[in-house]
Amino acid sequence: MDMMKAVVFRGANDIGVEEVPRPKPGPGEAVIRITTTTICGTDVHIVKGEYAVRPGLVLGHEPVGVIDQLGAGLEDEYTVGQRVVVGAITPCGQCFYCLNGVHSQCRGPLGGWRFGNTINGAWAEYLLVPDARANLAPIPPGLTDEEVLLVPDIFSTGLSGAESGNVRVGDSVAVFAQGPIGLCATLGARLRGAALIVAVDAVPQRLEMARRFGANVAINYRDQDPVAEIKRLTEGRGVDVAIEALGKQETFESCLRAIRPGGTLSSLGVYSGKLVAPYESFYAGLGDQKIVTTLCPGGKERMRRLMSMIAARRVDLSPLVTHRFALDDIAEAYEMFSNQREGVMKVALHPKRVITEERGEVLLHAATTADEDCC
Ligand SMILES: [Zn+2]
Ligand SMILES: [Zn+2]
Repeated sequence: MDMMKAVVFRGANDIGVEEVPRPKPGPGEAVIRITTTTICGTDVHIVKGEYAVRPGLVLGHEPVGVIDQLGAGLEDEYTVGQRVVVGAITPCGQCFYCLNGVHSQCRGPLGGWRFGNTINGAWAEYLLVPDARANLAPIPPGLTDEEVLLVPDIFSTGLSGAESGNVRVGDSVAVFAQGPIGLCATLGARLRGAALIVAVDAVPQRLEMARRFGANVAINYRDQDPVAEIKRLTEGRGVDVAIEALGKQETFESCLRAIRPGGTLSSLGVYSGKLVAPYESFYAGLGDQKIVTTLCPGGKERMRRLMSMIAARRVDLSPLVTHRFALDDIAEAYEMFSNQREGVMKVALHPKRVITEERGEVLLHAATTADEDCC
């Protein structure tokens, strides 16, 4: 049996590189060779044991790669060697939920999220892509892996915060938490035409980045009360839309306090435990507020749209990729990412040992080596 290297979840706070069977595609499936992937905040929840997955599972849900094998029925649309992105969410496009337009809930609650959740994920040399025709999205020529690395999850999720909140031209928007997803929500509010965008966080570099991504006001909640300041900036009313991008009671509550009557709380965070809506900011349940939640939109058409924004140079997410590691060094990468050391935003992980410039070794960019290092 052909084997490959992959990062396996063994139990809470226990992950490691192991040799596992290399996947083979069935009809309608494809196998891609991963060239670049990354670590998500959700993976941290999983590794800590806060979100349960089965031991033995390969983690990771943000794949950038090259088509390695195609199962039956795909040859008319795809070719081996093609560079592709696959969304973190892989809808089938045919079930009750997909045909009702909620692709992320494909086949049932959270069912569209399969990689590194219910099936083996992207922290590996090879990845089996289910329902490949709905999910393999060719990368436009000229874009590097790192330029599209945030497309499978972070950009799609962050932008969806503004979309689900139905941000309109001239709206006021507050985005609570400016991690990679919050920053993409800030960017999303700008793309949707918000006039006032207030970014809230406690890390100065993240607030600085928020300004680059479209915030006109950046509030450090350690220095001032964000809700009071948001009320002051909106003639006492509150914002039209508040986006929650952390998944904590405090930020959820602040969002609720920050929106005007009739406003929308658009929630992106992954929560654990109980979530409480305080009586006064919930107006006893009579405030005409909307609370909407969104799981990352996936599927190849979503990926195509997001990559078209990058190809057209309307969006540049590469400043968010701050560190590079070989997949073998997952322990080091995870330690840095989960503890937010060294100003890390997102790490690029390369299954093939490509070594970074800052370590004084050769940088083999995955995008330029894609064709020459065929197995
Ligand atoms: Zn994620
Ligand atoms: Zn489906």
